[in-house]
Amino acid sequence: MNTKTKRFILPESEIPKAWYNIVADMKNKPMPILHPATKQPLKAEDLYPIFSEEVSRQEMNQTDTWIEIPKAVREEYKKYRCTPLVRAYGLEKALDTPAHIYFKNESVSPVGSHKLNSALAQAYYCKQQGITNITTETGAGQWGAALSYAAKAFGLELAVYMVKISYEQKPYRRSIMQTFGAQVIASPSMSTKAGRQILTEHPYHQGSLGTAISEAIELALQTPNCKYTLGSVLNHVSLHQTVIGLEAEKQMEMTGEYPDIIIGCFGGGSNFSGISFPFLRHTLLEGRKTRFIAAEPSSCPKLTRGIFQYDFGDEAGYTPLLPMFTLGHDFAPANIHAGGLRYHGAGTIVSQLKKDGYMEAVDIPQLESFKAGTLFAQSEGIIPAPESCHAIASAIREAIQAKKEGIQKTILFNLSGHGLIDMTAYDQYNAGNLINYELPDTTIRESIDKLEKLV
Ligand SMILES: *Cc1c(COP(=O)(O)O)cnc(C)c1O
Repeated sequence: MNTKTKRFILPESEIPKAWYNIVADMKNKPMPILHPATKQPLKAEDLYPIFSEEVSRQEMNQTDTWIEIPKAVREEYKKYRCTPLVRAYGLEKALDTPAHIYFKNESVSPVGSHKLNSALAQAYYCKQQGITNITTETGAGQWGAALSYAAKAFGLELAVYMVKISYEQKPYRRSIMQTFGAQVIASPSMSTKAGRQILTEHPYHQGSLGTAISEAIELALQTPNCKYTLGSVLNHVSLHQTVIGLEAEKQMEMTGEYPDIIIGCFGGGSNFSGISFPFLRHTLLEGRKTRFIAAEPSSCPKLTRGIFQYDFGDEAGYTPLLPMFTLGHDFAPANIHAGGLRYHGAGTIVSQLKKDGYMEAVDIPQLESFKAGTLFAQSEGIIPAPESCHAIASAIREAIQAKKEGIQKTILFNLSGHGLIDMTAYDQYNAGNLINYELPDTTIRESIDKLEKLV
């Protein structure tokens, strides 16, 4: 082992050939997702009108531990994978910590985030099925950017509903999507029934992932040969993201260490799942003791302060009912700059794992997240996405704790993306204009109380 090595890289031949389906290894499977009207468990076929058939089957797959990555997707992965595993010597020094800190750098993808790992898979499966058009929603714009790239790679037309506040705050993500050839619409919009309804009730609605999802699904259902795609929350998205952890597992072997703590920021759970699940496999099968920490924003704390309950995945209530930790589907998170973390629920697999005590969650105030991101930028040279700053803040807390206890711990976190298109957020932080949002229990209570009627 060479302790001076900074970056650990796998050769192309070592890019994983199969994704890891953690559900196959879970003793307590996630509870079934339910049809919103009949409240009966859904089958894969029930999802065919909305999603490509292959991802519908992947969504329900509880038996196959390994699912082959199609060759065409692996070819696309080669354009940026394997991503580096990096030892954060600079950050360790800045913190004067005995902890060894590693990060998996997903920011090196052509669109600057991990989202491409699933976008390429989803676009490929649509193409393979003869689909011509796809729709989606995007929050901060990363998923839309990734899907725009993937749609172009596989020859599909794409319409993106972008959360209005992000459409205004992050014009360059819109430019990226348009450059890759996608059509971009600010949500809520007047172009769908769901959008018109929301705007009638709340004319100044800033949009949320929930409103945009409702609009995109509506368009997919009403357009022939058109499917919807989702960039987070669902099982098949987490599945595709396991390519992150599978590579990281081999890269950690190269370092001669095994992580004691694994951290990912948490919006709908895809990058957290991606870095965690391949390592969690050793916890599930061999009882290996590793702490898994999901870092969410204090202003949208579904895992730390939400309840476990069936809820819709979207604001208008079009999606199936998902058993998950949620703040209620019409919870309106504060307008923090980490737009990708402004989602009310946590997905079914992570929620079950949390319930069963396999993982923890922490909530990070906005100012702490940017302070951590700035220290990381200054010590490691990479400006992190505002979302990723939450994972960094959590890693810093753990590294400081390790110093207090005088223990050499090994910490691995996922750098889900870079922040080079989020510099308005850093400007605001540097100018002292950002605040922490207090979220009173009564606000959460009000939103959750509306849920009790659902199932
Ligand atoms: C979308 C996004 C997130 C949050 O989504 P998850 O599904 O929870 O991973 C985090 N970081 C970046 C950079 C993103 O683009």
